[in-house]
Amino acid sequence: MDSEEYRRRGKEMVDYIADYLQNIRDRRVFPAVKPGYLRRLVPSAAPDEPEPWETIFGDVERVIMPGVTHWQSPHMHAYFPALNSYPSLLGDMLADAINCLGFTWASSPACTELETVVMNWLGQMVGLPEDFLHLRGDSPGGGVIQTTASEATFVCLLAGRTEAIRRYQQEYPDLEDAEINSRLVAYCSDQAHSSVEKAGLIGLVKMRYIECDDNLSLRGDRLKEAIAHDREKGLIPFFLCATLGTTGACAFDNLKELGPICLEEQMWFHVDAAYAGTAFICPEFRGWLDGVDHADSFAFNPSKWMMVHFDCTALWVKNSGSLHRTFNVEPLYLQHENSGLAIDYMHWQIPLSRRFRALKLWFVIRNFGVQGLQRHVREGVRLAAKFESLVRSDPRFEIAAARHLGMVCFRLCGENELTEKLLKKLNSGGQLHCVPASLCGRYVIRFTVTSQYTTAADIAKDWSVIRATASRVLDEQKERPKVAVDDASITPEARAKVRLAAV
Ligand code: PLP
Repeated sequence: MDSEEYRRRGKEMVDYIADYLQNIRDRRVFPAVKPGYLRRLVPSAAPDEPEPWETIFGDVERVIMPGVTHWQSPHMHAYFPALNSYPSLLGDMLADAINCLGFTWASSPACTELETVVMNWLGQMVGLPEDFLHLRGDSPGGGVIQTTASEATFVCLLAGRTEAIRRYQQEYPDLEDAEINSRLVAYCSDQAHSSVEKAGLIGLVKMRYIECDDNLSLRGDRLKEAIAHDREKGLIPFFLCATLGTTGACAFDNLKELGPICLEEQMWFHVDAAYAGTAFICPEFRGWLDGVDHADSFAFNPSKWMMVHFDCTALWVKNSGSLHRTFNVEPLYLQHENSGLAIDYMHWQIPLSRRFRALKLWFVIRNFGVQGLQRHVREGVRLAAKFESLVRSDPRFEIAAARHLGMVCFRLCGENELTEKLLKKLNSGGQLHCVPASLCGRYVIRFTVTSQYTTAADIAKDWSVIRATASRVLDEQKERPKVAVDDASITPEARAKVRLAAV
C-alpha cells in the first residue's frame, strides 16, 4: 500500500468507523457465536501472495463483526464502561503514526513533556493535592500513564516493598532482602478487585482481605486489628490498597480512617479508583476523596468512563524516588545528555517502551473541556438513578445494594435461580448485555450506564426488555411443580458481599 492508497483507504476507514459508532444501536450488543466460530471463516495458513485491500477490508463485516461484543453500544451495561470518543481515536491515530517509544526524555521529548503536563491537568481536574503533581522540575511527585489499573497497583506494591526492605535493612543490616520479603504483608478489603490479589501473588507477598462494614467500606478499626494481629506474629505490614468504587457494588473505602494508620505504620497507601476516579472531575462527588492527602499513590482509568479509549491508566505518586529505586536500570544505550534533568518515564513503570498515550488524553480534555466531561458524568449518573427508580417501581424486583454513580445492582425477588435465568435470557437475546455479581450468596445483575450516547429512551427500552423477559421467566416458573424454598436463610440485614467473578 503506497501513501496515495493509504490516503484513500484511511478515509474509507474513518467513514466506516463513524458509521459503526453512529449506527451501533442496530447491532446486537452481545454476539451469538460459539467458541471456534472464527477459525471456520478464515484459511488455516497465512496468504503467500499479497491480498488486495478490498478483500481484507471486506472480511471485517464477514469475520470480525459477528463475534464482537459492542462495548460502545448504549445497551452495553456489563463490567464498567470502556468508552472511546472521536478526539481520543484521532489522538491515537496520530500517536500510532508517530509511533515513538518514549522511554526516556530523549527518546521523544514531546511524549514525556506532554504526559507530565496533561497528568498535572488531570490531577487538578480530579482534585488531587498538589504534592501528587509535577509542578516544578525538582518536584518528587507526579503523574504517569500506565497500561492498566492492575499494573498501577502492582507498580505501587513493588515500590512499597522496596521502601519496606530498605527501611528494615537500615535497622537490621544483616537481614537479606528475601528474609524481609517473606515477612511482608499487604492489605485490601474483601471487595478489592482481583488485580490486587494478583499483585500480591506475583509480588510474592502475603495479602490479607479485610472484611468490610455494612456499606461494603473498609474501615480503620478492622485494618488496625489485622495489623496488630500480624505484628504479633512478627510479620511486617507494608502496603494497603484501598478502593474507591469497588467492582462489585461501587462501594467506597474510608480513606480518612485508613490514611493515618498507614502513616503511623509506615505502610505504602495506594488508592485504586479505576472506575470512580472519572467522577471526581465533578466536585459534588469528591466527598469520597476525603483523606486522599494521606495516600502515597492514586490511580484511575480514563480508559473507563472518561472516553479516552484503552489503554490509559492515570497513576500519581507523591514520591517518584520510590519508583526510581524500584525500576532503575541504566544501560549506556539508554543514557542521554539530559539524564537526571528531565523525567525518564522508564523508571516509573515495568516495561521499557511506552506509547504516546498523552496525545489522546490531551485531545479529549481539550475537546470536551472540563465542563463537557462533567456533563458526561452527571448524565450517566442521572440515567442510572432513572433506571434505579424504574426497578423500584416494579414490586417483582429489588435493588440489591445502594446505588453509587452509574451502577445499579438489582435482582428478581425470590430464589437466585430466577435472576440467573433472567440474565441468561437477556444476554442470549442480545438486545442488552449485563454481567452478574454475588451479594452475600444472592445472585444480582449489575447494570452500569456506560455509553455517552445512552439516552433516557435507551434506558426505557432496556427496562421494557428486562420486564418482558422477567414475565417470561416468572410464567415458566409458575408452570413448574412447586419446591419448598427456605428463604429465611437470607436475612434482611445480610450484607451485600460482592465478588464479581466475571471482571
Ligand atoms: N480495580 C477496579 C476497582 C476495577 O473495577 C478494575 C476493573 O474493572 C480493575 C482494578 C482492573 O482494571 P484494569 O483492567 O485496568 O487492570
